Amino acid sequence: MMRQYELVERVAGYIDKPNEALLNKAYVYAMQKHGEQKRASGDPYFSHPLEVAAILTDLHLDEETIAVALLHDTIEDTDATRREIDELFGERIGHLVEGLTKLKRLDLVSAQAKQAENLRSLLLAISDDIRVLLVKLSDRLHNMRTLGAMRPDKCKRIATETMEIYAPLAGRIGMQDLRDELEKLSFKYIYPDAYTAVIGHLEELAEGNKSLTEEISRTLEEKLAEFHIKATVSSRQKKPYSVFRKMESKGVTFEQLSDIYGFRIIVDSIEDCYSALGVVHREWAMVPGRFKDYISVPKQNDYRSIHTTVVGPAGQRVELQIRTKRMHDIAEFGIAAHASYKDGDNIVLESNAYESLRKTIEHLAEGDNAEEFMEHTKLELFFDQVFCFTPKGRIIALPNGATPIDFAYAVHTDIGNTCIGCKLNGKIMPVITKLQNGDEVEIIRSKKQTPPAAWENVVVTGKARSSIRRASRQSIRKQYSTLGARILERAFDKAAKSYSHELLEAALPRLARQSLEDVLAEVGRNEMSATNVIKAIYPDFEVDENTTPFKEPRQSEEGSDKEPSGRIPIRGINSDLPVSFSREGGAVPGDNIVGILVPGEGITIYPAQSKTLAKFKDDGANLIDVRWDIEEASKERFPASIRVLVENKPGVLALVANVIAQNDGNIQNLSMKVLVDEFMEMEIDIDVWGLTHLTQITKQLNNKSITTKVERIIG
Ligand code: MN
Repeated sequence: MMRQYELVERVAGYIDKPNEALLNKAYVYAMQKHGEQKRASGDPYFSHPLEVAAILTDLHLDEETIAVALLHDTIEDTDATRREIDELFGERIGHLVEGLTKLKRLDLVSAQAKQAENLRSLLLAISDDIRVLLVKLSDRLHNMRTLGAMRPDKCKRIATETMEIYAPLAGRIGMQDLRDELEKLSFKYIYPDAYTAVIGHLEELAEGNKSLTEEISRTLEEKLAEFHIKATVSSRQKKPYSVFRKMESKGVTFEQLSDIYGFRIIVDSIEDCYSALGVVHREWAMVPGRFKDYISVPKQNDYRSIHTTVVGPAGQRVELQIRTKRMHDIAEFGIAAHASYKDGDNIVLESNAYESLRKTIEHLAEGDNAEEFMEHTKLELFFDQVFCFTPKGRIIALPNGATPIDFAYAVHTDIGNTCIGCKLNGKIMPVITKLQNGDEVEIIRSKKQTPPAAWENVVVTGKARSSIRRASRQSIRKQYSTLGARILERAFDKAAKSYSHELLEAALPRLARQSLEDVLAEVGRNEMSATNVIKAIYPDFEVDENTTPFKEPRQSEEGSDKEPSGRIPIRGINSDLPVSFSREGGAVPGDNIVGILVPGEGITIYPAQSKTLAKFKDDGANLIDVRWDIEEASKERFPASIRVLVENKPGVLALVANVIAQNDGNIQNLSMKVLVDEFMEMEIDIDVWGLTHLTQITKQLNNKSITTKVERIIG
């Protein structure tokens, strides 16, 4: 086991005057806390955090990160507390250790469905401080190195998770070495037979090609020296997992892969990179289509290098990477390399974290090419998402194709409703611009704004869509009631009757309406005639045909189809009879439905399980077979009713309403009654997109501990 002074010496190897006191204190604290604990292998537990710290010294990380590595399992596995760590080591270290503790708890959840959620939490932890990811990856690396002591089924699960999540993550932040080792170790546990075979082949090959490899190496060195280029040439080991993956995905044999030789040329400067390239291409024929200049166009993860393939001295293919020492370090250490180099200042990670994070997340979702990104990585879970930032640095995750309007609603409904414009990365842009990963979005607002209804077709998130609909419905309703008020004024004028809001208010029961607004809006929409209103206030008012200024409501104009929006989305009816949904039925798309023909009235649609159907049972002739005719992109909602039995506690209504709102349900009506002291029953009318949507809502409600029973009401 590494001694205390050895750890300090390692850090002193790359940091001038390191904070020895911090390192020593963390070493002693973690050692005492883990005490007699043992790992599955029988080793003292403390050897684990110590090895994790050692891995991070290889990456030249700062003292705080090393201390966090030493402490990373103390909160979870010993009696150490966050408060104690805060007191001894400061809040920043305490915060990082706590972040790792949370991630460790996630490791214990293996269910597939949880993985996306885990990744999200991981990203959030990273967004706090990128060092959490570095410690987590090193922690995982050491666990993988010592995995053999675990039960085989556990090994396989952990290895799979490493392969799907941690190895690609390491790759995304440019830590190629770490990625290679994680992949190699996971490979060993996931496909033990293939692993043994590939490793065997590779060893054989390395042995058989030894002299040829040396010859190519020597020739390269001599040629470069001839042109006065100082260079180090090394042959590159093939990575067992990438060999296996190539064999699998391209369907090639091991032999087909084995006549390719990989070499790396490391030189002092960028000019030398191009000079070396010139020498190589002059001496040997280059293989067309294999040249890539990642120096002038670096990869997303900052990788820089020149790649080329030539036909070597004995006719074999020789793959070359030409780069400087600095580029090489970045290729191996990724983000960690940036941290340890910058101006010799070893805590730049801290000030740099935000930028690094932005880049990391860009890498996460963009990749160099989609194919590489999708291949063998669960990170594809993020492929359909964009991550954007508020001006204060908060991350907002949105589906691909989201606009600043979606962003605004994701932050807060009020912000969405008052959004009139936006700045993307400091520049004024149209609000319908598609957001890109890493965009910083600033919403420009005005209190006078009402979201235009047309936005509904632009946005991609349910939250934005339903909020826009709600807001524009309110504003449309307001316009109608203004219109209705004007119509009434004129109608009363013509009828020579006096009108006031108070008079109408008093007549509401006669009109069977709840509010003044309702009446005004209906008149405005021409759904209630002004005459009806006059009659409600002056019951003996006689309609004089000549003075009636307005037509009777639309219901009387059968056959007219001036209102295309009223289309009923039902197939299977070949008549001009009016079709409607039964009021108490609540059929939604996805339900099996039945139409009932009532002569002289029309066809009414019921859900097949409706109790009302029983009374038509004897009359089979009136039953009509109908089907839904809903377009995929339909924006229509349908009313449904549910009954929820909940514990009678404060806040329960808010909870239920919240679940429904979060699942994009529109509550139209809600009533509650207390059954016994402990329980309350709610009946809720919701507008939903269809059966799947309704089921999702009832399921989410059912998941709450406070609900005892959730059922759909069908009349
Ligand atoms: Mn650990």
